[in-house]
Order: sequence, then structure tokens, then C-alpha cells
Amino acid sequence: MKLGFELVPDGCWYSNLRSVLSREQWDFVRKDAYARAKGRCMICGATARLEAHERWSYDEKTCVQKLTDVVAVCADCHAVLHIGRTQLKGDEARAAEHFMKVNGVSYAEYRKELGRANEEHARRNRVAEWSLDLSRLKRFLP
Ligand SMILES: [Zn+2]
Repeated sequence: MKLGFELVPDGCWYSNLRSVLSREQWDFVRKDAYARAKGRCMICGATARLEAHERWSYDEKTCVQKLTDVVAVCADCHAVLHIGRTQLKGDEARAAEHFMKVNGVSYAEYRKELGRANEEHARRNRVAEWSLDLSRLKRFLP
């Protein structure tokens, strides 16, 4: 699917890049993503105000959380990517609509994909501590 859920395990203290980078470094990473996006959401193509989103991969065997990319996305896609947070804010209905529209799927498929993501999230939460791999940042920083 074009737009999925990217739930960050609860124990990932450093999941927010802003907390490990200096303000100057984060600005560089963020602006690089905006430049690549050329004014369009990198997921749905909307010409809306863009937000930077960090993408991570998780290796459950080695317990490594690795930064794979920083992309520029619209607020609607961002709300879907972080669906857990969106549900807590009470904005799930709008996010579900956007998920169905972007992926061209039904509400049943939305629920199914959400169930799958929640299972994955619960499994990753069983890892006591994730170590962080930020080697990909070299691509962004001068
Ligand atoms: Zn979007």
C-alpha cells in the first residue's frame, strides 16, 4: 500500500530525531526532504503544507532501530503514519478516510491493516531496548 502505518515502539526514546540532532543539523535534514519533495507530499502528492517524517526499520533479532529516510509529507498522511497518536487525539475518522482514499481500499481493509500494524507494534514493544543506527544521516548532513 502507498500509505501505511509506521508505529514507533514505546521504548524508543530517541525515535524523534530532533532530540538527538542539533537544531542546525535537524534543519538541514528537514530542508533536504522538502527540497526533494518539490512542494508535494511524497506519499499522496498533495500540494499542502509539508511536515518532515522520519522513517525507521526495525531488526527484531539485533534490536536495532535504523533510520532509513526522512521524507516530507502532508498533515493528513502524517496523521495516518502515526495512527496511535492520532487515535489518542480523537482524529481517527479523518485519518481512516485519507488512508482509504490514498490506497483506494475499503474500511474493512483499513481495519485489517491497522490490526496487522498493532500486532507488529506489540511484538516490537517486547524488545527491552532498541539501539539506534543513524548512519543514514551521513547522506543528509554536510
Ligand atoms: Zn499526503
